[in-house]
Amino acid sequence: MIRAVCLDIDDTLVDFATSARSAVAAMIGRDDMWPAWERVTEEHVARAIAGEIDYDTMRRARTKAFLADCGALLDDDLIVRMEDRRLAFLNQTWRTFDDAVPCLEWLRSAGFLIGAITNSTGAHQRDKLARLGIAEYFDTVVIAGEIGCGKPDPVIFATAAKQLDVPPEQIVHVGDRLDLDAVGARDAGMHGIWLDRAAGAEPGERAVHVITSLEALPKLLVSEFRTPPTVVPSQQRCR
Ligand SMILES: [Mg+2]
Repeated sequence: MIRAVCLDIDDTLVDFATSARSAVAAMIGRDDMWPAWERVTEEHVARAIAGEIDYDTMRRARTKAFLADCGALLDDDLIVRMEDRRLAFLNQTWRTFDDAVPCLEWLRSAGFLIGAITNSTGAHQRDKLARLGIAEYFDTVVIAGEIGCGKPDPVIFATAAKQLDVPPEQIVHVGDRLDLDAVGARDAGMHGIWLDRAAGAEPGERAVHVITSLEALPKLLVSEFRTPPTVVPSQQRCR
């Protein structure tokens, strides 16, 4: 019996990449540096999650390193202004995927506890959920930057299970990263589901379920897992 469903946030519920890519392009006036931004972000977010630097220090150091990669050696005041403009742009452009809210509605109607497990660096992730109007759906939100470790570390999944007061084997976790989300959850004793929105890859021999949209989650929960008896009629499920 599955009693709880956890979901990743960025690129699972929220179209993070589109907003973030647009914000970077708006900051530098070109759209070809996204891979460099992703690389620099990975390095700096890891330091923030480990507690070496706080969120605001991280994002300014990241932008400084990124601009240096672009060949722009600017003074710190200008870098701070550029980064603050990028963040403001980002905060105005977040949006959920079209399948996110219907899925959350279905999960709640079906009687599941709902958790979020995110590798974000801090409390601003809660602000994002509130701003998008989806914070109310979650019984718990576990943020890597707040506990000092991120997915795929089993500690973050165990933290969510403890906060939900549900054993890991009764929890499904869904996320867009095969390694961090689906395999990480599986290795932590949960049921891992890979949300492969690009529908382009094979999970191989990793023993995780694969869906290509959140519309498919209710059907998977009903067909592959035993859902709670309060499950709603099919016509009320995700469209
Ligand atoms: Mg994600």
